[in-house]
Amino acid sequence: RAKGEGPGRSTIFDTSMHTQVRERIELEVALRQALEKDELHVAYQPIVRLETGVPVGAEALVRWDHPERGSIPPMTFIPIAEDAGLITVIGAWVRKEALRQLGVWRSEGTVGDDFYLSINVSPRQLNDPELPLIVSGEMVRYGVPPHCVALEMTESVMVDGSSVTARVLFELRELGVKLLVDDFGTGFSALGYLRRFPVTGVKIDRSFVTGLGVNLEDDEIVRAVVAMSHALGLSVIAEGVETPLQREALHAVGVINGQGWLWGAAVFAPEFSDRWREMVRRTPATAIEPRLYGA
Ligand code: C2E
Ligand code: MG
Ligand code: MG
Ligand code: MG
Repeated sequence: RAKGEGPGRSTIFDTSMHTQVRERIELEVALRQALEKDELHVAYQPIVRLETGVPVGAEALVRWDHPERGSIPPMTFIPIAEDAGLITVIGAWVRKEALRQLGVWRSEGTVGDDFYLSINVSPRQLNDPELPLIVSGEMVRYGVPPHCVALEMTESVMVDGSSVTARVLFELRELGVKLLVDDFGTGFSALGYLRRFPVTGVKIDRSFVTGLGVNLEDDEIVRAVVAMSHALGLSVIAEGVETPLQREALHAVGVINGQGWLWGAAVFAPEFSDRWREMVRRTPATAIEPRLYGA
């Protein structure tokens, strides 16, 4: 606390600190029980070809339905789960549930063999030397081939990760799963890790997509990211695409894949499969093109 502040001021400060700490503890306690109380669910958001709208995959996103407070966003509870050491259990549950669902969609014929599901993984999950074996066991169990699975991680995983993490990433890639850098461009890190690690694609953060077509600097940044990524053989997915203008601008600078409210927000499995079938039905046969740039 800064010196010279009046007593009234510091009381307000203490009170709001106190409230924040209490709220955090309450959320952590509730989160510890969320899984067994069946309050966590997985929602799915389509990933499409920007140009044609042809759907190619989906991202699995965890949802928490708190009994009193309603839906709590992952931005609030994932950091708590990470600090409290709960992310390994929650992350493992999300991954297993998502792979199970993918297995069901595949066997029902809702999705084809070219559909891939992208799952977020936290740094701590990737620091477990058993992870590749566990993932490979789950893929066998649910009848999901590795080319239909992508794992998303932030660049901090590669920049600050341990040697265990490095080995885990190489083993996962050896299995054949895709490895995507999430929130790409927000980490202010040197990009050498893109060559040192077996990354297969990048997801351009929404903060760069928002200003596209309006803020020419954003257009130039994204253009450079695309050029570099394609030179390295990486796929590019733009996230948070909300408007036709953004879609046009992304297409103009060479981005192939996108995800965002323009095509649909994340929804639970039953609604997703209805929407997916509808998207596939609407796809003109002429829009089916050879696969470019991997994912
Ligand atoms: P992310 O992985 O970058 O996911 C994209 C976020 O953008 C999602 O937020 C998605 O709902 C949101 N989004 C998608 N399209 C649009 C759009 O057009 N406009 C806007 N404004 N937002 C859009 P969500 O679901 O709230 O998740 C937030 C973050 O929480 C995720 O960011 C990810 O970092 C983390 N997260 C979510 N699920 C998991 C999980 O199962 N495990 C881990 N470790 N992290 C997760
Ligand atoms: Mg993600
Ligand atoms: Mg992302
Ligand atoms: Mg993001």
